[in-house]
Amino acid sequence: MSLQKTAEEIELIRNSALLVSKTLGMLASEIKPGVTTLELDKKAETFIRDHDAIPGFLGLYDFPNTLCMSPNAQVVHGIPNNTPLQEGDIISIDCGVLKNGYYGDHAYTFEVGEIESETKKLLDRTKASLYKGIEAFRIGNRVGDVGFAIQQYVEHFGYGVVRELVGHGLGTTMHEKPEMPNYGKRGRGKSFLEGMVVAIEPMINQGTHRIKQLQDGWTILTADGAPSAHFEHNVAIVDGKPELLSTFKYIYDALGITSNEEDAFRVVPLPL
Ligand code: MG
Ligand code: MG
Repeated sequence: MSLQKTAEEIELIRNSALLVSKTLGMLASEIKPGVTTLELDKKAETFIRDHDAIPGFLGLYDFPNTLCMSPNAQVVHGIPNNTPLQEGDIISIDCGVLKNGYYGDHAYTFEVGEIESETKKLLDRTKASLYKGIEAFRIGNRVGDVGFAIQQYVEHFGYGVVRELVGHGLGTTMHEKPEMPNYGKRGRGKSFLEGMVVAIEPMINQGTHRIKQLQDGWTILTADGAPSAHFEHNVAIVDGKPELLSTFKYIYDALGITSNEEDAFRVVPLPL
């Protein structure tokens, strides 16, 4: 569909994005040592269907499940299974829904119990880089400015930016133009336009940026076995500026976390 969405289309994408947000919030209180990613996947599928939507990833390019569940050294596209989560794990959960013909798609990396302090820093800095990227998604900037903002921030810590997988536009299809790399050069690439809606989703490795793929044809993991984090929001350009369509607030409510990180990008109050 068009790169520039109408106000009505943006509301439909917001509606779908917020259902993803609520799904992740529902999962947040279920994530603990002993639970399997397949159990969480089934809960998410039921939750989404109960909200008059369908899982956006299930069957997309033949993906077999509702959630991409990528623990520890897995970057993205992990397939839910019967292995219980363990204390100290991290688990990146990516969720998509299709509702009223429009997609929402975002992701959060959760802590399972107590995690190592270096891993905690990776999560905090990857999430911070997401907001650096969102800040750069505005009229007057180009695709390269978002990638530059993310890359410059995380490489300062010695982290690796995954190159092969990128953010994307979304709307009536899950993946639309423009591609939104998490690396880039200032002032390069397509200019941003009013009404653009994208998924910005840094995938940041504690070590090398290099990745490999499991023989399941899906799971992407770090080449050196170091942990990887993934945070994703859906964002529109409204009045020239970035407006968040998704939220982590449901996650924070479930986990008892106080955060004002979204305030600068929040225009429409959340329907809580
Ligand atoms: Mg996603
Ligand atoms: Mg995405």
